[in-house]
Amino acid sequence: MNTEPEYQPETLAVHAGHLATDSVNPVAGPIVLSSTYVRDASGQLPEGYMYSRLGNPNRTALEECLAVLERGEACAAFASGSAATMAIFQSLAPGDHVLQARQTYYGTLKVAREIMERWNLEVSLVDMTDIAAVRAGFRENTKLMWIETPSNPLITLTDIAPVAAVAREHQATLVVDNTFATPLLQQPILLGADLVMHATSKYIAGHSDVVGGAVIARSATAGLFPAIRKIQTAGGAVPSPFDCWLTLRGIRTLPVRLRAQCENAARIAQWLAGNSKVHTVHYPGLSSHPWHDIAVRQMKHAGAMLSFQVTGGAEAALRIAANTRVFTRATSLGGVESLIEHRASVEQGTNTPDDLLRLSVGIEHGDDLVADLEQAMP
Ligand SMILES: *Cc1c(COP(=O)(O)O)cnc(C)c1O
Repeated sequence: MNTEPEYQPETLAVHAGHLATDSVNPVAGPIVLSSTYVRDASGQLPEGYMYSRLGNPNRTALEECLAVLERGEACAAFASGSAATMAIFQSLAPGDHVLQARQTYYGTLKVAREIMERWNLEVSLVDMTDIAAVRAGFRENTKLMWIETPSNPLITLTDIAPVAAVAREHQATLVVDNTFATPLLQQPILLGADLVMHATSKYIAGHSDVVGGAVIARSATAGLFPAIRKIQTAGGAVPSPFDCWLTLRGIRTLPVRLRAQCENAARIAQWLAGNSKVHTVHYPGLSSHPWHDIAVRQMKHAGAMLSFQVTGGAEAALRIAANTRVFTRATSLGGVESLIEHRASVEQGTNTPDDLLRLSVGIEHGDDLVADLEQAMP
């Protein structure tokens, strides 16, 4: 299909990214497992593929689809979201400074602090919701700004456009971790970001059966993307052909999955907001939420991730998680099944409140999800 951007995201999700083909014209593309490709008699590689670390048709199809959905020029797929994160950091030089949002996924902060600082990358944390603090955080050697919105696990939002403007003033690259929103709800490149990062393990693949990551770039040739591509192909943290095939298969239903997940999450957030055992609900779709205005401005919907804090502290929170029957107790997010997690238990040395539970809302019937929470917190 011609995937010019005049098509709506729902159509692009189903059709973008040419499928690997074989001689029998299947509608669902095959998985090309070969690690190496045949040269013709003149020594050329007519399809351009030589060796699967460098490129593979299933990876190309996935990368094309993600680039189109995020309105970028290029995409590099990785073996995990964290490998994508590593590649972005490694595209910088030792001595460069990264201004990173305090509101960032625990694992990303860990990569920055425990791995990248050892190769002499300077990383400092700033509250990205405070633009004065963002400006004050710049150093002469600041090359990268990292934001995550909505963020994990407190679902804080960062206003992307003004942060992008500050990044541009300082000629720094702005990265947005768009894992929680997906390109169906938020398109950071259109708001001024240079790079978008995804843990495709989550909503993009959507079925809790594959780990993967991706970096999508505004420009394929300028900025950090050429270095990121080199780290991908020479460094080799690439996803397998089957991982790519599963992830692209997941994207085909992303718009309809997300619609159901968002609808359920909004309903659950309302229900929690009216519950006397809950003292705070973190969901930007609620008009009482401090970042509701930003959600309305930069997102098509507030999404399907939410967290809430209960009266009675950690003990009460753990008891609720122990009582759920439809919500599964597990980490990760974005799959078709609803998950519940006590984040403070899995984040070492965390600031996450210990009375907080995070929900990844799935596509089950909303009545059953609300009833499950009701029986879990009588
Ligand atoms: C899961 C996650 C990551 C890391 O991705 P992995 O595939 O687990 O390495 C990064 N950012 C966010 C927001 C995530 O939820």
